[in-house]
Amino acid sequence: MIRFHNTLGGRIEPFIPLVPGHVGLYTCGPTVYNYPHIGNYRAYVFEDLLKRFLLFSGFKVTHVMNITDVDDKTILGAERLGQTLQEYTQVYTQAFFEGSATLRIMPADVYPRATEHIPEMAALIRGLLDKGYAYYREGSVYFSIAKFQGYGKLSRIRLDDLEPGRRSDADEYEKENVHDFALWKAPKEGEPFWETDLGPGRPGWHIECSAMSSKYLGETFDIHCGGVDNIFPHHENEIAQSEAFTGKPFVRTWMHCHHLVVDGEKMSKSKGNQYTLMDLVAAGVDPLDLRFLLLATHYRKMLNYTSDALAQAGASRRRLLDFLYELEHRSFPASGTGTGIASVLGRAREGFQAGLSDDLNISESLSALFEMVREVNTLVASGELDAKGAGDAAAFVRGLDEVLAILPPKAEEALPAAMASKIEARQKARRDRDFALADRLRDELLREGIVLEDTKDGVRWKRVRPAGPAS
Ligand SMILES: [Zn+2]
Repeated sequence: MIRFHNTLGGRIEPFIPLVPGHVGLYTCGPTVYNYPHIGNYRAYVFEDLLKRFLLFSGFKVTHVMNITDVDDKTILGAERLGQTLQEYTQVYTQAFFEGSATLRIMPADVYPRATEHIPEMAALIRGLLDKGYAYYREGSVYFSIAKFQGYGKLSRIRLDDLEPGRRSDADEYEKENVHDFALWKAPKEGEPFWETDLGPGRPGWHIECSAMSSKYLGETFDIHCGGVDNIFPHHENEIAQSEAFTGKPFVRTWMHCHHLVVDGEKMSKSKGNQYTLMDLVAAGVDPLDLRFLLLATHYRKMLNYTSDALAQAGASRRRLLDFLYELEHRSFPASGTGTGIASVLGRAREGFQAGLSDDLNISESLSALFEMVREVNTLVASGELDAKGAGDAAAFVRGLDEVLAILPPKAEEALPAAMASKIEARQKARRDRDFALADRLRDELLREGIVLEDTKDGVRWKRVRPAGPAS
């Protein structure tokens, strides 16, 4: 039985998806107005651990992660540089995808972009107007929070001294400023806008996630994640918009991860402690050490990033890598003296699974893993581990890495850039129906030891012994 903490209600509950065996997961994606910092990646790594654990537990997962490419921050950023919204956001969208791959974060099934879902948002807003939950003021549309019973149930906000009709256009605001929020913003000088039947304008931030989550996951779905700073107003407003529109529960389980601080202090540009992934990689940090650090603290606890903590995470990870290397490279007796390896691995698997099943208690899972390392090392030292046992233990570690994703990426992901671009060039040649060029590139790759296989899911490659010079 898997149990998760649900921010809605504040309790740990058994997790049972709406459709047996299939989980609908929505995670708030990046607002692409700057390079993601390690606090952003803490949330993405937590979500990745959650998703990988659900897959490991036998669920099918449909994961949707939005890209917020129009909101107050992206518009302001583009304006400052005199760029179009698209030029401006493209750079950061790309950086987000690269960073995610570097941290071995599994791609989502869909990455809907806000700018590509304006009609869906307009339809949702139209529905809220028709049902009386929203109203126009000077070309903008606002959500009337007084009309929605249950406003504040996620963040447990007090509405006692609510001033009826107080409203603002800002996407982000503090709890003390609870007010009617903008669903649709009338055009302003120099801002991008869309023509819709609501009139010209652009969406507020919150409506984006309501429209895109229901489009891909349905009106009610299983899990919605984000950082604690998303609880209010973002997720509170999503619930209000979606439930007012559908009359149905929006999300069954809300999961939020806590902040990351650096040396005990809140990250901020002015303090110079707002590290991006690129900053750390440039300083020689192994991104998978960082991943290990980010996932090893329980998601509902504050994570204090320090260079010591990073070094410790690196040391633990190295211990696991060394262990695996030994198992896979040293020779073991063909038959041992009756080893207890099966029970060691069985216990470790149980402990690992039990930990994560308990609201992603990663510490318990990692202790089970490292206890196994210790016990297997004892078997090795006493000569009790045979070749089959060593193979089983190695396979076990690789199996758990489907969840942790802290081992070095497989060869597939480590293809040299020159060869990757050659494969890309061949694909382009094929699309352009330039088969002579495509074949020449295929032969070149073969001479470099890369054999290509065209499958219905696209091109695959594998390494072979390089062929001799072309005759
Ligand atoms: Zn969102």
